[in-house]
Amino acid sequence: MKDIKAIFCDGNVIVGGVKRYAGKYSKILLNAFTDKKGEYIIEKKLEKEYTTIMKALESLLCPEMLIDSPGIAKNLINYISAIKVLFPFNVSDEIQKTTELFSDKNIHVVNILKQSRTDNPHELWEKYPELSDAQFVIRTVEIESEMKDCLLFFENITHDISKAYSEMKEIADTYSEMQKHYENDLLPVAVDLLNNWNISELKTRYITVLSKKGKKTLGREMIFTSYRDFIIADLFEGIHYGHYTRQCIICEKYFLMEKAFNQKVCGGKTTIKKTYSNDTYSCAEYAQKTKRNDKADSNPIKKIYEGRLSQLRRSRNRGLISDEFYEAAKAIAKEYLKRTDYDKAYAESAYKTDMTQEEIYKAVERKLRNV
Ligand SMILES: [Zn+2]
Repeated sequence: MKDIKAIFCDGNVIVGGVKRYAGKYSKILLNAFTDKKGEYIIEKKLEKEYTTIMKALESLLCPEMLIDSPGIAKNLINYISAIKVLFPFNVSDEIQKTTELFSDKNIHVVNILKQSRTDNPHELWEKYPELSDAQFVIRTVEIESEMKDCLLFFENITHDISKAYSEMKEIADTYSEMQKHYENDLLPVAVDLLNNWNISELKTRYITVLSKKGKKTLGREMIFTSYRDFIIADLFEGIHYGHYTRQCIICEKYFLMEKAFNQKVCGGKTTIKKTYSNDTYSCAEYAQKTKRNDKADSNPIKKIYEGRLSQLRRSRNRGLISDEFYEAAKAIAKEYLKRTDYDKAYAESAYKTDMTQEEIYKAVERKLRNV
């Protein structure tokens, strides 16, 4: 489970034998741990499991502590089962390995080993004669190291998922607000937002992929040591083939765009019930009904907003403004944009001035002074 092996081929990605459009994994990530209010809930959902895992890791790393985590294997299995939606891996295999590794017997022998490093060895040898058996010690050191690797993996992947989530969300939200969605428009946004991204370790090679009809085509196999690296590679591969994630304007779930056409609704259903039946509207039907249809519009209000946001992103990435300044500026620009929704006079007059770099920067300085 530590590495993710992905094969990119003709706009698709194959992971664990499952073939999907490249770019789809961002969508899966964005919808997997979001509750009905749109809040990200991986920490909330897996809090109990994560706390137990971290406690076990702490006691494993601390020489003076013994592992006191009954049921750790069960917590790990719950964790594995929860994150399996994010990428296909052999869950039953992982469950079996984890159950064996964190068996009561293994925890017991590792605890004996830990004690032998701090306590009086003579007393311990009497109590646990196996300690004088070199093979026992070697094997137990191995188990301890495997446990450490396993728990560190869970710590890393949790940070990785959180980081990837916030990055993918920012990119998808920016895409949702844009008018044009060609590679030329999408690519700079992703490159800007992932400015500091470097794949840490990557093994890659070209391979032959067989299609269903038995035809051979070129595939690129990449082995990622981090989930976030995998998600980002999948994002870029997707963009190149016109697949990117945006948010449905009706149900607010994220969906994968599969056509260049500026589609704003997903293919799913809303939670809104039809008047005379128990059935719910599809997002497309509801958009039609409320006249929030799909057609791309060349909205000058939005264009000003997008332009300002892209300038802010560039300035942040060049270090001209801090992250805090960037977040505040973005919030202010969004506030101005929202006001144009209900204040027509504002939209036609002061909005344009408020959105200039000079005015936004002044507003941010005022805001940050007041905090
Ligand atoms: Zn929808």
